Amino acid sequence: MVEIAVATLGFPRIGAKRALKTALEQYWSGGCDAAALRTTAAALRASAWQQQQACGATIIPSNDFSLYDHVLDISAMVGALPGAPDLDAYFTAARGSSRNETACAHAHAPTTGQDHQPAAEMTKWFDTNYHYLVPRFHPAQSFRLSSTKPLDEFREAQQLGLHTRPVLLGPVSYLLLSKSDHRDFDPLTLLPGLVAVYAEMLSALADAGADWVQIDEPCLVLDLTEPGRAAYRSAYAALHAAVPHLKLMLTPYFGALDDNLATALALPVQGLHIDLVRAPEQLEPVLAAAPADWVLSLGVIDGRNIWRADLVAILDWLEPVVPRRSQLVLAPSCSLLHVPIDLTRETQLDPEIRDWLAFATQKIGELAVLAQALTQGRASVEPALRAASAAQLARRQSARIHQPAVKQRAAQTDPALSRRASPYSVRRAVQAATLRLPPFPTTTIGSFPQTAAVRQARADFTKGRIDPARYQAQLQDEIARAVQWQDAIGLDVLVHGEFERNDMVQYFGEQLDGFAFTAHGWVQSYGSRCVRPPIIYGDVARPHPMTIDWWRYAQSLTHRPMKGMLTGPVTILNWSFVRDDQPRAQTCRQIAFAIRDEVIDLEAAGAAIIQIDEAALREGLPLRRRDWPSYLAWAIEAFRISASGVADATQIHTHMCYSEFNDIIEAIGAMDADVISIETARSRMELLDAFATYHYPAALGPGVYDIHSPTIPSIEAMASLLKAATRRLPAEHIWVNPDCGLKTRHWPEVRAALDHMVQAAALLRATVHTP
Ligand code: GLN
Ligand code: ZN
Repeated sequence: MVEIAVATLGFPRIGAKRALKTALEQYWSGGCDAAALRTTAAALRASAWQQQQACGATIIPSNDFSLYDHVLDISAMVGALPGAPDLDAYFTAARGSSRNETACAHAHAPTTGQDHQPAAEMTKWFDTNYHYLVPRFHPAQSFRLSSTKPLDEFREAQQLGLHTRPVLLGPVSYLLLSKSDHRDFDPLTLLPGLVAVYAEMLSALADAGADWVQIDEPCLVLDLTEPGRAAYRSAYAALHAAVPHLKLMLTPYFGALDDNLATALALPVQGLHIDLVRAPEQLEPVLAAAPADWVLSLGVIDGRNIWRADLVAILDWLEPVVPRRSQLVLAPSCSLLHVPIDLTRETQLDPEIRDWLAFATQKIGELAVLAQALTQGRASVEPALRAASAAQLARRQSARIHQPAVKQRAAQTDPALSRRASPYSVRRAVQAATLRLPPFPTTTIGSFPQTAAVRQARADFTKGRIDPARYQAQLQDEIARAVQWQDAIGLDVLVHGEFERNDMVQYFGEQLDGFAFTAHGWVQSYGSRCVRPPIIYGDVARPHPMTIDWWRYAQSLTHRPMKGMLTGPVTILNWSFVRDDQPRAQTCRQIAFAIRDEVIDLEAAGAAIIQIDEAALREGLPLRRRDWPSYLAWAIEAFRISASGVADATQIHTHMCYSEFNDIIEAIGAMDADVISIETARSRMELLDAFATYHYPAALGPGVYDIHSPTIPSIEAMASLLKAATRRLPAEHIWVNPDCGLKTRHWPEVRAALDHMVQAAALLRATVHTP
């Protein structure tokens, strides 16, 4: 009989009840010592191992756990962090040595410390919503084995009677994910020294009894240069020479190997994992070309989404494969880090929807069923297969999912739906006449501080502790104070403050058809931070207006324009678990129509300015460049559908909280917003380099206040940033605003900083001529 193993490539670290978060935050605030933190961490590892085994995994990972981030763990292992190789240096590298840093409104932007050692830069792990700490190298960088974590955790499992397969992020991906301090310095030149340290760790693991190591090389699914491919060849030749008896499971994921397949297949490893969820088409070429003695690991269960798998369809596909290979492993497409831990805790979720889902533990169960069916026949797991098929059928046919009117509306192809009535130049004149804003108009990005009182009121309301009228009165009070203050300091375009919003996506999802929310579906975002992404399960429609009443109240308090404030369709899509039974583009289009209706209602209520935030548009870019144009085409079209239902006089703003869009600047222009606000304060307007060659067609607010820092910028500092902007952009196109929303800041900082910002704008008006 064939042997088919069941592997997990990694398991969520945070714990079903987020015990790691609690322990970390206690440790950071001095509430517990290192020993207590380590005890919690060990207990979490033990329980993760036990759970995986109980669900049917036969290849259990170790060293997939991390106290903060697995990329940072490698930096610690190879001695690339400043300071002594201890816990405090590790956390300082992650968080900076100033405790004042704060995250961006949606936990997606890097944090910066105020002084001392700044926090390392964070960026998205491939196209997930997980953030890793970017290693930074200089030409004199050297490496030295500085942590025995992989070995310690392998031994820890051994003591519990478990033989694990340690996981390491591979050396080439590690370097490719790093940044260089110097313009002309390529971190890949550090490879030989790095590989020597890896070799040391691998031989220590082999000495301790490890037979296999899972070596993650997700960069193998990216566009690689020839030097990148050569790095793979030399790194793995060196590792093989150093530890010839240890078997390596080369583990790329998040896409197809494609033009890197030949490179992967020529490496001296003993096994290869392939992501067959994102790239099922690579099964045949891999079967045909992989050395006969390699173990193939087939990633057939989606590690990136929460849908229950169609087990029978997978069996139909895999059964013919089994006789062709002597050794197979079934696995999730990637680590289970990106899905919540256990569906059985979701007792409040609608049972019909719950039956369509699988979280990490359920996914391992699915793999175990598949493995048994493939080795002992389908009959041996008949009830499980029947249940899986029944769930598929129920989901396909559910009236909860399908709204024919929504589908019909989204299928319309009339180009007028995604086109404003007139081009920007015409709209600009109409808007100038009606809005009568001064040059360098001032505004903010939307949210004001979410104080403890605001959060308490929302929690009380959600839990039914206060009635709707009381809640409304409390929030109206907050809005009134915020509006009066904005009026008083002389901001030109006001906001209501978003006090009613728990999160810029969840707030809308909760009011739209087709969204479900979990109670415990936490997924790690970075460090101790977790998010609970909404689940888009069905056709998206807007049963009622979502923001009109708050807007109307806020506008009633002032004569200045009050911005309507919405989250855009692409951002709602990219920060959710998305249905897998239709293309993402189609789901995005449905959301776009829902937001369009809200935009039209805001206009009808009297809003002259409406902002549609697209914070996550850039991070949704596909991993391969050749897939960018089609993503950008539908994403931009969705934004335009949401924004194009209004008259020329209505001014559409959008906001993006990042600065790296030199490579998609034309797509940003194609969004055809009247005003865009972006992040630039930290990079000292470097971003505006993009505008040296590309003439952005509309108005633009380069952020002049870095909201990630508690520092209050001076009037002069902001004025000088604005002056720098006037060298790149026509002065009459420039708006004055912070980098992002202010929800994570405190009122005293916000008051002082915005007061300075208004004065900086006044200074510009007095000194810079605008036509
Ligand atoms: N309007 C949102 C806010 O101000 C935008 C947040 C974001 O882009 N992350 O909070
Ligand atoms: Zn932002």
